[in-house]
Amino acid sequence: MTQEAQPEYQFFKVVQDYLDQAADVVHLPTHVREMLSQPKNELIVNFPVKMDDGSLKLFKGYRIQHNNLLGPYKGGIRYHASVSLDDLKALSAMMTWKSGLMGIPFGGSKGGIKFNPRDCSKDEIMRITRRFTHALGTHIGPDYDIPAPDMGTNSQIMVWMMDTYMNSISDTHKNAQRAVVTGKSLACGGSEGRNQATSRGVLHCILQWAQDNHFALEGKTAIIQGFGNVGGNAAFLLSKLGVSTIAVGDHSGYLANPEGFNAHKLMDHVAEHGAIAGYESGMEISRDDFFSTKADLFIPAALENQLGAKEAEMLDVKLVAEGANGPTTPDGENILKDRGIPILPDVLANSGGVTVSYYEWVQNRRSEIWDLEEVERKLETAMIRAYRRVDYFAREHNVDMRIASYCMALQALNQAYSERGIFP
Ligand code: GLU
Repeated sequence: MTQEAQPEYQFFKVVQDYLDQAADVVHLPTHVREMLSQPKNELIVNFPVKMDDGSLKLFKGYRIQHNNLLGPYKGGIRYHASVSLDDLKALSAMMTWKSGLMGIPFGGSKGGIKFNPRDCSKDEIMRITRRFTHALGTHIGPDYDIPAPDMGTNSQIMVWMMDTYMNSISDTHKNAQRAVVTGKSLACGGSEGRNQATSRGVLHCILQWAQDNHFALEGKTAIIQGFGNVGGNAAFLLSKLGVSTIAVGDHSGYLANPEGFNAHKLMDHVAEHGAIAGYESGMEISRDDFFSTKADLFIPAALENQLGAKEAEMLDVKLVAEGANGPTTPDGENILKDRGIPILPDVLANSGGVTVSYYEWVQNRRSEIWDLEEVERKLETAMIRAYRRVDYFAREHNVDMRIASYCMALQALNQAYSERGIFP
């Protein structure tokens, strides 16, 4: 992860190519394909923030609203030094596909700020978040565009966004505005189960695949790239199924432990130190050693563009389950196909996050609080249903699961476009 698979990777172009392939399969009308090939709105804001040393620094923030045909724009906010307009366009489109595939009444969007949050204090991050939210103004809202956590952001940042938004609107409606963001803390209107939702969704997909392939998970091994919310919780949930995570990696490097990491302790270490580096029960290995580690499962849960041709040749696993968005490049994917290594694609595998975001939004709007069992049961049903539909479509049309996931989303969007027509 310290290095990118292809330095000049054009993520948005990759997503557009998948869109084209899927559009051919479902015979999408040309005008619908054209509308979906670009975001509806691309908002860029530059705003100053006072830093701890008294200086003023200018930040660049983005919110890309891809589509709102099926419901309000919906998608995460990313704080990362690599944030770019191109990546956010790709990621916003992927949110449209995820909502369409899962059948939840949302569209797709994505936003972020180009900076490294690790270089800033907690107070600075709070001021950056509040100024960004203020700059977005009425371009977000519970009925219009609903942010959530993504890479580099968390429930605390969502709560600051919510608080800033609430304080900029009229008093009488304040409480109705909680649903302006999801992924909040429980104390501030978040949902039970949201924190682990993405990883839990990945696990449900792995379980379906294992069941179909008569693959007993107990006693098996995994390697995980990225040890934030998605990677860390995936390791933890896998351990409950008897799968040991034997190699991990993040921006600070790669570690191996043939006996399996204690996911709980490693997550505590990351919470305290911000990275896996320095964790005592792990042996430092190179990025290449990580990718060539023999294991049963590989879960990329970091940035896009990590599994290119080189990594796909090195991998010695039976399944890739994409916890991250866009981790596999088309070249990497082709090599994995040739080698017979299946991929559970991002649009399906990591859609548990936005699904439970939807549950949070519904609870906020109805002033309800669902218990953890209810959220987990609903998520399980939704993930299994989506997996089965994608798997069926893929077999019926002889396409891979990524194209099948895109196709299912496109069918939902096309149905709505064809009934509504184009205004005026
Ligand atoms: N950032 C997550 C994703 O990429 C979740 C988005 C959301 O909950 O709106 O799917």
